[in-house]
Amino acid sequence: MSELGFELVCLDCETAFSGLEPRYRCDCGGTLDVKHDLKAVAEAVDRDVFDRRRGNGGPLDRSGVWRYRELILPVEARHVVSRGEGNTQLYDSPAVAKYAGLDRLLLKHEGENPTGSFKDRGMTVGTAAARMLGMDRVACASTGNTSASMASYASIAGMRAFVFIPEGNIALGKLSQALAYGARTLQLAGDFDAAMRLVEQVCATESIYLLNSVNPFRIEGQKAIGFELLQDLGWRVPDWIVLPGGNLGNNSAISKGLVELHEIGWIDRLPRIAVIQAGGANPLYTAFTTGRPIEPVRAETIATAIRIGNPVSWKKSLRGIEASNGVVEEVSDQEILDAKAHVDAAGIGAEPASCATVAGLRKLVANGTIDPGSTVCGILTGHLLKDPDVVVGYHSGSLSGIDSRFANAPLRVPDDLDAILAELRRI
Ligand SMILES: *Cc1c(COP(=O)(O)O)cnc(C)c1O
Ligand SMILES: [Zn+2]
Repeated sequence: MSELGFELVCLDCETAFSGLEPRYRCDCGGTLDVKHDLKAVAEAVDRDVFDRRRGNGGPLDRSGVWRYRELILPVEARHVVSRGEGNTQLYDSPAVAKYAGLDRLLLKHEGENPTGSFKDRGMTVGTAAARMLGMDRVACASTGNTSASMASYASIAGMRAFVFIPEGNIALGKLSQALAYGARTLQLAGDFDAAMRLVEQVCATESIYLLNSVNPFRIEGQKAIGFELLQDLGWRVPDWIVLPGGNLGNNSAISKGLVELHEIGWIDRLPRIAVIQAGGANPLYTAFTTGRPIEPVRAETIATAIRIGNPVSWKKSLRGIEASNGVVEEVSDQEILDAKAHVDAAGIGAEPASCATVAGLRKLVANGTIDPGSTVCGILTGHLLKDPDVVVGYHSGSLSGIDSRFANAPLRVPDDLDAILAELRRI
């Protein structure tokens, strides 16, 4: 172990690197894990320390990522750019539970992060790593939320940001954020997978730091979703954690963090992880059900945040699913939008990809994989307002190929009191 207190280890060949140079992959092409000295962590802190920090006002303790810093990344405080990420609500929603077929459902809303998605948890750590390494330019390929988050954190850190986004198929709220926060935005004539391939090549030669989730430090930050969820539950382990999968960094992160907690002995068992993919972007589902390595697909789904055909973190993802005896499920766009109508109407609201969580849950309960009486936590990954076009399109019945079964269409009325009163009595 290096004097930094962590090292980077290749998932494929186990070569270790010091973590003192910008590096996203091993020379063999394998992705990298941050490996902590867990014994030293267990000697330095315990769950009570994290609980005490939660009630504290200090800038690092207030962050729902840096509160767990010993398990995230041991960096100097001066390198940290924080917007007080995390601290998201855990909703107990009887309405959504009923729709999913569960007795009870807890929904952790990661759309309540500063830029409206869980990406902020990874980005605060990725930005700190960039500072630690002395990099002042950052880049990512993005279906939208990564670029929104990176643009914000880079601006605060005084770094130049370059985002590569696929032309079309990016939700309006997300594109607005990247432009507004001042990132140089390259709209590529190609899909996300093409953008991802190109940005990795650019960062390899241009001394620009890559902040996609292939960056192992992003994963460390996103582990905090699981830490905070357990803290929300008084460290009682739920039976299931359910979340959508696109590039597969997030489920890899949550599993990695929980496995580490288990290794330290702070939890006595692992929750089972269920990863939900869109049917039109389902390479993990296929790999999981056939037992074969990932085969890239041309991705198509209305849930743009998970419209990814060649996911970078598939090996990490399968490792975590295996460790937790987890499952992978797929859902159609119709199922995603029906679930979204219920999540939204429950007063909680989330973007389409997030609602794959609830659509998948409903399927897993119906097919007997998840017992209706089990403790289930679903992760809502992004904010309702990220994708207003889909919301308005759904409720006005104008999405092609989608049956707007639960539409709440606006009513047209004349500017006449009697007509309005008649309408109000009717609805
Ligand atoms: C990024 C993102 C996902 C997918 O997460 P991965 O780590 O790529 O699997 C899901 N939902 C939302 C809202 C996202 O922004
Ligand atoms: Zn290797």
